[in-house]
Amino acid sequence: MSLTLHLDLQPWREHLDATRDAIPGLVPVAKGNGYGYGLQRLGAEAERMGVPVLAVGTSQEVAAVREGGWEGDVVVLTPWSRHDEVATGLLADDRVITTVARVDDLAEVGRLRPGARVIVELLTSMKRHGVSVDDVTRVRGLLEQVCFEGWTIHLPMKAADPLGEAHALAAAAIVEVEAPVWLSHLSPADFATLTSRLPVVTHLRMGTKLWLGAPKTRRVTARVLDLHPVKRGEKVGYWQHRMRSEGWVVVVSGGTANGVALTAPTSGATLKQRLVTAASGAMDATGFALSPYTIAGKKRMFVEPPHMQSSLVFLPGAGSVAIGDEVPVELRLTTATVDRIIEH
Ligand SMILES: *Cc1c(COP(=O)(O)O)cnc(C)c1O
Repeated sequence: MSLTLHLDLQPWREHLDATRDAIPGLVPVAKGNGYGYGLQRLGAEAERMGVPVLAVGTSQEVAAVREGGWEGDVVVLTPWSRHDEVATGLLADDRVITTVARVDDLAEVGRLRPGARVIVELLTSMKRHGVSVDDVTRVRGLLEQVCFEGWTIHLPMKAADPLGEAHALAAAAIVEVEAPVWLSHLSPADFATLTSRLPVVTHLRMGTKLWLGAPKTRRVTARVLDLHPVKRGEKVGYWQHRMRSEGWVVVVSGGTANGVALTAPTSGATLKQRLVTAASGAMDATGFALSPYTIAGKKRMFVEPPHMQSSLVFLPGAGSVAIGDEVPVELRLTTATVDRIIEH
């Protein structure tokens, strides 16, 4: 057994339900690794929450949330493409809402599957996907072929004026075709303000802040698999690094297979956040890197880069850990894979 995510189920559910109650129009997003919990669990949890719509990242993920027990409508966030056969198949599924982000694609979807449920994405300052506002009139001309479920706006995490940008885009689109507006990465406060200013139904999609929003409801542990005393100067590990001092090599579960020590690019805007990120991935002066494992009260250095399923860390001085112990490990749950989840 490798990495374990301990989940305090009741407080987590209270947080999910409180978020749902505070944000009318909330659309949970379940995608990728399921924010560490897995897509099936998130599908089940969204069903339990009683929300009418769930969003997934890709067409393949529709089946995963349904396996978990999700029965409502599913929005696929990756815009439809003629190269995606699964997405094309889903046009015929009356519980799937397809995102379309190009005028030509809208025409093609209407031709392939008249009556398909679609939302049309508007290009934001993110410049990822979307139809420019100048093309909204062309969109209007194609909507008769499909079942139009609204406009969708995906803002950058760090927009200069998110509310202003969302309002300008939504207003320009609604003037052409009055329809619901779906938003991503607007704060709940800005979302409430925008909702009060628009004459249409609004939806706010949320992943990270929903599923990972109550950090006290979870912790991840690794198991101590083995322990070896080492002397100063002794060579250790795959790469035979020399130990700087006497102590213990602690073999802990979790490695590259679990996403241990993979640091996604930082979104940290402040110097402090950047320093924290640097500290957790950086080498110290002697070439050792700080690991995410806490042993005997402190984060310990890696002896060498993590392996597939386990890692070697160094515990200086006398050992205060035993084989079989569970030790805390800090993981970014959007990039990590745990081996099991235990509900408490
Ligand atoms: C992933 C995604 C979200 C959810 O993002 P979080 O930062 O996890 O809340 C919302 N909208 C779109 C379009 C996405 O791709």
